[in-house]
Amino acid sequence: MKNSKKDIRRLTKKEIQEFFISKNSPKYKGSQVYEWLWKKGSHDFDLMTNLSFKDRALLKDNFEIKHINIDLHQISLDGTIKNAVKLHDNVVVESVLIPTQKRTTACVSSQVGCSLDCTFCATSTLNRVRNLNPDEIYDQVILMNKQSKNYFNRPLSNIVFMGMGEPLLNYNNVLAAIRKINEPEGLGMSSRRITLSTSGIPKMIKKIADEDVKFRLAVSLHSARQNVREKIMPFAKKFPLDELLDSLNYWYIKTRKKVTFEYVIWEGVNDKKIDIDALVKFCKMVPSKVNLIQYNPIENSSMKEASEESINLYFNALNDAKIKVTYRCSRGQDIDAACGQLVNKLNLA
Ligand code: SAH
Repeated sequence: MKNSKKDIRRLTKKEIQEFFISKNSPKYKGSQVYEWLWKKGSHDFDLMTNLSFKDRALLKDNFEIKHINIDLHQISLDGTIKNAVKLHDNVVVESVLIPTQKRTTACVSSQVGCSLDCTFCATSTLNRVRNLNPDEIYDQVILMNKQSKNYFNRPLSNIVFMGMGEPLLNYNNVLAAIRKINEPEGLGMSSRRITLSTSGIPKMIKKIADEDVKFRLAVSLHSARQNVREKIMPFAKKFPLDELLDSLNYWYIKTRKKVTFEYVIWEGVNDKKIDIDALVKFCKMVPSKVNLIQYNPIENSSMKEASEESINLYFNALNDAKIKVTYRCSRGQDIDAACGQLVNKLNLA
């Protein structure tokens, strides 16, 4: 028999309240259930202990709670935790919890696989299977918040959309998840602690700039020269750098937040003076800072991180131009949990 129960997390608070009213029960029970579902992140009607057994049975008869399950988690030598997250239809994404001295950051996935074709990223070898629903994104955060408390005695301090997928190609669901993370009836986490990383889709960047919910924006730039960028990120042919720049200036005008450029330096790809000059020029055209990222080697690729000397040349040029620059060291490389390494290696799906 086909399962006809509705996934209760697709309902708004009002709809859950209306359900109780239709059963001649008070509206406040709907609010209690909503709180269990979102604020407390409960996946089990039986654990909603301030409801009567009768109400819990009523809910079980009418609804289900579709949720993610952790299939396996691996812990890196540096403390990074990688979760293989099984979705209700048995497909798997990965999410990563990264502890540092001051922070615990959750890196979440927004799509199963990815439709982009960045040559340096292992996830791009997977086809995009489907978008994640808002609750599947939210669950990753809830789950890692619990993990963070268990392993590191503190809740999550930051959330980054830097896992599998391109968040701006799953726009509505990512935004709905961010709203839930943000709102007091959800996790109640400040949007300043949330960073969305995009490969740079100008039209969508303008769209998020117009939204009421604010968060930080990072753009995977990797080259400020169109011909070089197209080689390593072929989809960028459709999104020229001048359009990207235009959308980022729009973002700044609307949000007053600097964009962060994520940038890996590879030997023979973007390690020349001409590349550095182009980046400095680009950064001067929009309020921005640069996060140089350590390259995490992936299988079947000959790309190699540039020498320390080349990286220093970038550092000095950006410093001289008064552009803030940081270097992000790789985390969780030994368990393939680092940037660009999320590829479901264990083939759990
Ligand atoms: N699709 C989004 C988010 C996912 S990738 C985006 O493109 O921004 C998160 C970051 O890791 C991006 O900046 C991406 O360019 C970078 N990245 C991908 N593969 C990498 C690798 N092998 N080593 C280091 N960084 C990588």
